[in-house]
Amino acid sequence: MSNGNISFFKSVENYVDRAASFTDIPKGLVEQIKACNLVLQIRFPIRVGNDYQVIEAYRVQHSHHRLPTKGGIRYAESVDQDEVMALAALMTYKCALVDVPFGGAKGGIKINPANFSVEQLQSITRRYTTELIKKNFIGPGIDVPAPDYGTGPREMAWILDTYAAFRHGEIDAIGCVTGKPVTQNGIRGRAEATGRGVYYGLRECMAHAEDMQKLGLSKGMAGKTMVVQGLGNVGSNTALISQQEGDVKIIGVAEREGSIYCESGLNIEKLLAFRKETGSIMGFAGSKALPDKLSALELECDILVPAALENQITVQNAERINAKIVAEAANGPVTADADLILRKKNIMILPDFYINAGGVTVSYFEWLKNLSHHRFGRLENRFQQNAFEGILGKVQEITGHTIGEKERQLLTRGGTEEELVKSGLDDTMSIAYRQIRETLMTHNEISDVRTAAFVCSLKKIASDYISMGIFP
Ligand code: NAD
Repeated sequence: MSNGNISFFKSVENYVDRAASFTDIPKGLVEQIKACNLVLQIRFPIRVGNDYQVIEAYRVQHSHHRLPTKGGIRYAESVDQDEVMALAALMTYKCALVDVPFGGAKGGIKINPANFSVEQLQSITRRYTTELIKKNFIGPGIDVPAPDYGTGPREMAWILDTYAAFRHGEIDAIGCVTGKPVTQNGIRGRAEATGRGVYYGLRECMAHAEDMQKLGLSKGMAGKTMVVQGLGNVGSNTALISQQEGDVKIIGVAEREGSIYCESGLNIEKLLAFRKETGSIMGFAGSKALPDKLSALELECDILVPAALENQITVQNAERINAKIVAEAANGPVTADADLILRKKNIMILPDFYINAGGVTVSYFEWLKNLSHHRFGRLENRFQQNAFEGILGKVQEITGHTIGEKERQLLTRGGTEEELVKSGLDDTMSIAYRQIRETLMTHNEISDVRTAAFVCSLKKIASDYISMGIFP
C-alpha cells in the first residue's frame, strides 16, 4: 500500500529520519531503530465449497528493544507486507510515546471479512494463530496481538482458545492476546479505549489557550464542531464520547455508503442505532446527503477525525481540507505529501501514533490484569473503604458535622475496574501530550506535533539501546 508517491513504510522511515535530525542519536542506531526485526509471511489454504482458497497473511515484529512485542491484527483487502511493516513500526513509536513497555508488532490477513461466513472466519483465525504458535510468534512474553481494522473481541477469543489448546497448563496463557471479551479475561473499557483516548488527547491539546489561539480557536472542546470518517470501533466511540462528555457538535459523518451533514449536529447514539437497523447512514432524519463518501472530509469544521483507513487525505483533497485540527484516529490517514500541504495551511495534525494510543494503553492494562490473575481493585477495595470509613468517622467526631449517606458512599468506595481504566488512560494520554508539547517548546526549529512526538519516542528507544548494550 503506497502512502502518496512512496510506500507507507518508507513514509514512516522519512518521518523518523526528519525527527532524528533534531537529536544526537548515532546514525547507525537510528537505522537499527527503524529496521523491522522479524517479518513472517504465511500462506495457507481454506476450503471453499469443493475448492480451496489460498489465504495471504503476515506478522511483523518491528522492534525487540522491549518485550513482548504488541500490535493488532487487521483483516482487510489492502493488507500487504509493506502495510503491516509500516503499522508495526508505528506501534514501536506509539508504545514508547505513551510509556507502554512493549516493542511494536502488527499482523494482517488479506481478506474482506464480509466475503466469508463466521465459520470460515473462525477457521482462518485459528489456522493463522496455529502458524504463529509454530513459529514462536505469539505468547504473553513474546508477541501479544490485539484487534484492529476488521477484527474485534470475537476473533481475540478464538485466538486465546487456540493458543490455550496448544499450550495446555501454561499459567499465563490468557495474556497471549488482548482486546478479549470481558467474560473471557478481557478488561472493562477496552472496547471503547481507542476512541476514548482520542477524546482525552484532543481535550488535553485543546486545553492550551495560546496553542488554540494560533489556530484561530478558543480553548476547550465544548461547542466545537467535528467531522468523523468511519463509524467502526474507533470512529463511533470517538464521536459518541466527544459528544456525550465533551459537548462537541458532530456536523458530518462519512461511511462506506456515503457521507452526511447536519449543521445543528447529528445525534451519534441515534445515528448508530439507525445504521444498525438500515445498514446505512444515508437517510438519517435531519441530515443532508453529501455528493460522495469523501465529501464530508472537506466540510468546514474545528476537528476532523479520519477513523477508517490510511490514505484518505492525499494531494487530491488536502488543499480543500477545511479543519483547524486533524486527529489521525486511523493509522496513516494523511499521506506524507498531504501532511506538508495541511501544515502550510496552518492545520494542526495530531499524529496517529499519539492520538490512537488509547487502544494499546488499555491493552497493556488488560495484559497486566491477566498476568496478575485478578481484577483490579479486588484485593484492596474493601480494605480501603473500611479505612476511609474510619477517617470519616473521626472527621465527624472532631467537627461535630454529620456526613450524609450518599456523600459518605462517594467518599469511601474504591474505584471500579472501568473507572480505574479510564483514569489510567486519561493520565497516560495527558502526560504524553505534555511531553510532546514540552519538546515543541524547547525545539524552536520543530513546528509540528508529529515530528515532536517522534523525537520523544526516539529518545526513549535510543536510551533503552544505549543502557542495555548490544548482545553479544
Ligand atoms: P473497524 O473495522 O471497527 O471500523 C472501520 C470503519 O471504517 C467501518 O465502519 C468501515 O465501514 C469504515 N470504512 C471503511 N472504508 C471507508 C471509507 N472509504 N469511508 C468511510 N468509512 C469507511 O476498524 P477500527 O478498529 O475502528 O479501526 C479503524 C482505524 O483505526 C484503522 O486505521 C486502525 O488501524 C486504527 N486503530 C484501531 C485501533 C483499535 O483499537 N481498534 C487502535 C488503534 C488504531
